[in-house]
Amino acid sequence: HPQLIINTATMPYSPTVGDPISSLDTPSMVVDLDLMEQNIQSLMSQLLPTGINIRPHSKTTKSAILAQKLITAGAKGACVAKLSEAEVMCSKGLTDLLITCEIIGPAKVARLVELFRQHREVRIVVDSEEGARAIDAAIGEAGIEDRILSLIDLDVGLHRTGVQPGEPVLRLAKTVAGLKHLKVIGVQGYEGHLQHVHGAEERKRMCLESMKILVDTAEALRKDGHQIDVVTTGGTGTAEFCVTMPGVTEVQPGSFLFMDTDYRNAVGTKYSNSLTILATVISKQGPKSITIDAGLKSLTTDSGLAECKTLGFTYGVLGDEHGSLSWTDGADLKIGDRVEMIPSHIDPTINLHDFYYAHRNGIIEEIWPVDARGKVQ
Ligand code: PLP
Ligand code: MN
Repeated sequence: HPQLIINTATMPYSPTVGDPISSLDTPSMVVDLDLMEQNIQSLMSQLLPTGINIRPHSKTTKSAILAQKLITAGAKGACVAKLSEAEVMCSKGLTDLLITCEIIGPAKVARLVELFRQHREVRIVVDSEEGARAIDAAIGEAGIEDRILSLIDLDVGLHRTGVQPGEPVLRLAKTVAGLKHLKVIGVQGYEGHLQHVHGAEERKRMCLESMKILVDTAEALRKDGHQIDVVTTGGTGTAEFCVTMPGVTEVQPGSFLFMDTDYRNAVGTKYSNSLTILATVISKQGPKSITIDAGLKSLTTDSGLAECKTLGFTYGVLGDEHGSLSWTDGADLKIGDRVEMIPSHIDPTINLHDFYYAHRNGIIEEIWPVDARGKVQ
């Protein structure tokens, strides 16, 4: 099992377990353990009884410790987005992985072969004949007499990756099944375009349309002679609907662990915002405006601006290292005050930080490295 607490004692700045979060330097990424554990409990208690596998997406956390915590809570393995994330997870002892992005190009394929040599359980997705043939050839040339577990990636409406349903998916599956070093075990169809649809009813309706394409495709593949054991899909916004569709075997939610303002606006408060960026007021810029030490390098803005956990303050970006908080009345902030900022998009925000400081009631209980930080290959 991955080490739970890393030893920072030899570093000049070395926050440790037992310290109050008020003693942390800023910006720091802090996790409210009570809220995070509630999020895990809500998801598991709703989804585990359905019998569907939960393979949480580690693209969010990039952390082996957190992937392990989710497995302990009932998850089956983990997803990673990228091969380089899989390399990190495997090095930490987590090998029941599905890499959800296509593996294309000689450098990446060579890395995959090395990973496969050591960890035969790693699963991949393919959406093209070229992609599949290159992996097949490389495994063959490496002298590995084995088949890599492969899922056909299906486009269920996201139009990002995935082969089209109908004749194209049947054709691709036939080709892949004929390759010596790939073994078709299932189909992935991720409906990422629906995760943030506002309103549960509308999201559910659209999700079930995508799920119909996915499970019908799985059936068509079976009729064509393939053994389709895995039908994997879903994210934080849709997993609860995906599991109601007969034929779906696995869901891949990630963001539910920490949430963000974008998801909260779409999905509501079923899961809590358990992760915040702790920041310090470093300058006063008027009677109703101050500057904090968290800008673009601490909080991403692709999904709108972060929100201050304390109501009444409006955040603005002042550059790479700075942000503003302004207010109309009632509130006040002075130099040296601390604020907690709720990220607008959790995954890319986490990728900006080295460590999670996990606390209960303000006292640090665990410190986790963002193991796969920067691992985008
Ligand atoms: N599955 C795939 C293929 C994804 O790309 C993502 C996120 O982008 C997820 C699952 C997890 O989604 P979320 O973090 O929204 O729960
Ligand atoms: Mn995301």
